[in-house]
Amino acid sequence: MPWNDKFECMPVEKLNKLQIKYLKETVAWVCERVPFYRQRFEKIGITAADIKHTEDIAKLPFTVKNDLRDNYPFGLCAVPMEEVCRIHASSGTTGKPITGPYTIEDLNQWSECMARNFWAAGIRKEDIFQNAYGYGLFTGGLGFHQGANKIGCAVVPTSSGLTERQIMLMKDFGTTALGSTPSYALTIAEQAESMKIDVRKLPLRVGVFGAEPWTVAMRKEIEERLGIKAMEAFGLTELSGPGIAFDCEAQDGLHINEDHFLAEIVDPATLEPLPLGEQGELVLTSLQRRAMPMLRYRTKDITRLRREKCACGRTLIKMNKISGRSDDMLIISGVNVFPSQIESLLLDIEEVEPQYMLIVRKKGYLDHLIVKVESKKEIYDAGPQKRTEIENKIKGHIKSTMGVGVEVNLLEPKLLTRSEGKAKRVIDERPKN
Ligand code: AMP
Ligand code: ZN
Repeated sequence: MPWNDKFECMPVEKLNKLQIKYLKETVAWVCERVPFYRQRFEKIGITAADIKHTEDIAKLPFTVKNDLRDNYPFGLCAVPMEEVCRIHASSGTTGKPITGPYTIEDLNQWSECMARNFWAAGIRKEDIFQNAYGYGLFTGGLGFHQGANKIGCAVVPTSSGLTERQIMLMKDFGTTALGSTPSYALTIAEQAESMKIDVRKLPLRVGVFGAEPWTVAMRKEIEERLGIKAMEAFGLTELSGPGIAFDCEAQDGLHINEDHFLAEIVDPATLEPLPLGEQGELVLTSLQRRAMPMLRYRTKDITRLRREKCACGRTLIKMNKISGRSDDMLIISGVNVFPSQIESLLLDIEEVEPQYMLIVRKKGYLDHLIVKVESKKEIYDAGPQKRTEIENKIKGHIKSTMGVGVEVNLLEPKLLTRSEGKAKRVIDERPKN
């Protein structure tokens, strides 16, 4: 049984009507309160009355990260500050951060979405949930914290980092559920191994991981190394944070909280909406938020949507695991390559650790990809000949499956910096033009 079967199992037609109602309200709300939206809508002559079907959303302009930066800090805020009770921010890599203000009701709704996420992961009141997402401006820490509170389980707010202490507390408290980025879960697994603690023998049984792309192969790796079920959370600051979409027990795509978010897939090049089932960029519209509603936000995340009967009974549409971000896509010898595809292939190779780094350089007119991956200790210790053999094996595996030639450097174990939050796995050294 889901957390909130009224909404999670609502017949699709009814859900659709609800979305239209909320969408109209959101459009009217921002038109009245946010000059940025009002001016844009006036320019194209659109009002809430023009929204009759969910497809009519395509009449509205997109919102992009730069719109948030241009209106930093509160230009897109639709309520007076006295109604705002929390402000998160996401720094991104360059420029000003983007802000996320919430009313108390926005926070309640976010907790509701996160509670659905936790519940679907099998977390209950009796659980001890260690929250190793970073607390602070990042939505991960507090987002998970609130959701866990709503479920009523015991929250241990460790935040990320201090890995040895995480493991000590996990053991001493009898933690049963963990929240962190997938890459940090791996860091925890590795640290526990070096402390000679077998996490698989501890009470830990489930993790809710998100905030960065990870492959199914990585999920399996984490499940094996920690002896748990690895469930997923998806979200972004611009649309409130984690809890937008979540794994159910089927672990086959993430259900989107459709009574809160309307999802579309567009072609990232032409920006035309794509038919259901096709892969493209995920565009999200918030349906119930009040402090900073978002209309047609281009997430840059690449996925596909599936409307299908799920074994769990939820009717909420599903999105596939994110395969990458359109801005992380590399073009190597004319082939589109997502870092996640390389991750999957590396995890097929038993002689390496799941710790890697991709470096993109320019070689003449062409892009050149260097895959640096840590070797298992016994392989590294076996000497240079063995290492070359494994490098060639990896090169061959990538070439035969993806058709791209890459350079492979097998590294000494433990050489790469371990992640405590979102892993940085791609270094782009191509000249910026
Ligand atoms: P932030 O706003 O800093 O939390 O970053 C949001 C971004 O993190 C999203 O747009 C995605 O690119 C990424 N992200 C979050 N959750 C996931 C997930 N489960 N799988 C893949 N990427 C994710
Ligand atoms: Zn399901």
